[in-house]
Amino acid sequence: MAESLVTIATFNEPTEAHILKGRLEAEGILCFLGDEHIIGAYPLYAMAVGGIKLKVTENDVDEAKTILRRIWQGNTLFDYDTLDEMAPPEPEPAAAEAVLCPRCGSDQTKEKPYFLQAFFGPKYECRSCLHRWKP
Ligand SMILES: [Zn+2]
Repeated sequence: MAESLVTIATFNEPTEAHILKGRLEAEGILCFLGDEHIIGAYPLYAMAVGGIKLKVTENDVDEAKTILRRIWQGNTLFDYDTLDEMAPPEPEPAAAEAVLCPRCGSDQTKEKPYFLQAFFGPKYECRSCLHRWKP
């Protein structure tokens, strides 16, 4: 079913209209600008045609107005709930293979960073008994 477009704001300046359009698109809202080109070509016509219209689909009117209101109130912080939806899924943590200490059998071992191994020798250190060894 075709949705109709609803004008949620008008602007005299194409720049402001584009900035807010981009901001709404970043939130996943499909939007369009109406009468942008006539006002771009003849800025004095802005008043005559009623400004550049920022339009969204009927379903997005409430959300888009909420976002615009937040911007105009000076609260431009991202909605972190929305950001989570947009962020790529976090990779599964690699199943770290526990290295067991050869002396005490503890799995509380740590691998030294590679550059430190060049100076300090042994690659692993046990946090329980402080034993150091190379695999
Ligand atoms: Zn140990």
